[in-house]
Amino acid sequence: MGLLSNLKKIFTGKKPEEPEAAPEPVTVPEPVTVPKARPEAKPAVKPGDVKVEKKPEIHEKEEKPVAEKITIGHVHMSGCTGCLVSLADNYEGLFTLLDNYADLNYCLTLADVRDIPKMDVALVEGSVCINDHHSVEDIKKARRNATIVVALGSCAAYGNITRFARGGQWNQPQHENYVPIGDLINVDIYLPACPPSPESIRNVAVMAYLLLRGTDEQKELAAAYLKPLMDLAQRGTEACGCDLIYDVINQGLCMGCGTCVATCPVRAISMECGKPNIDRDLCIKCGACYAQCPRSFFNFDVMNQFEAIGEVIDAAMGKGDE
Ligand code: SF4
Ligand code: SF4
Repeated sequence: MGLLSNLKKIFTGKKPEEPEAAPEPVTVPEPVTVPKARPEAKPAVKPGDVKVEKKPEIHEKEEKPVAEKITIGHVHMSGCTGCLVSLADNYEGLFTLLDNYADLNYCLTLADVRDIPKMDVALVEGSVCINDHHSVEDIKKARRNATIVVALGSCAAYGNITRFARGGQWNQPQHENYVPIGDLINVDIYLPACPPSPESIRNVAVMAYLLLRGTDEQKELAAAYLKPLMDLAQRGTEACGCDLIYDVINQGLCMGCGTCVATCPVRAISMECGKPNIDRDLCIKCGACYAQCPRSFFNFDVMNQFEAIGEVIDAAMGKGDE
């Protein structure tokens, strides 16, 4: 007891408080170590027991014989480039096409070639402004330099929206000056729609390749596939929703599938009582409904060889290997 405690006891007569007992030190428990499972002892391996796994023999992928590619050019007249965008929408299919079957040797949007070269197939997009002599010369040159000319899309085939657009600028050519390419040159294949589907453009390109480079059998199939589109080219440069009425519905051929409704770019067709009804005031004469209708060209060449044509396209695009 120290001096301070004694003084406190003297003045207060109280016993000094007992100091609090010091807390017992906390003992941290030892970490529990989980014993590791003993690895099972491997049986002794004798050299004779070792079996070397035979690696499967690697067969080199058979290269398919590919004939010389064809050349395709995209000739752009007065159009919105929607058909070219549709061609590009083939994604990987476009690479397959360009790797194996076709070189794009002219395309103002994608290739740096200014003068229209010789080519196997000219895909012509857009109508021709006859006030622009450059356009008129270009379409004539495309015809001279191409083996096959395709009217790609409804503007090239029938004028389509370019015959109705007015714009409003006084110094622009008027809409009646835009004419379908078939008014100026001979066209071999029509592929109308606004725009044609990516698959239909790809199929025409593959079929053109088979027609020009294929075996006799492939040429026959390609000709069967392309014939309805060649027949369209022979029908002339005017189209209308009423073609469906006269040539399909009134002939009792319509099966009410609705393809024409889905195809019309201006929603001029509606289904009523299971049959298409066409608002002629809205129709922009693109010809897509007639071209896409499965009953408009009831072609037995195609019907009879439908499966073979599908197989040859799948094989060409590598789908048979998947
Ligand atoms: S009805 Fe529609 S799809 Fe048919 S020609 Fe007229 S605008 Fe084109
Ligand atoms: S696409 Fe042809 S068959 Fe189908 S609904 Fe239209 S007119 Fe009829």
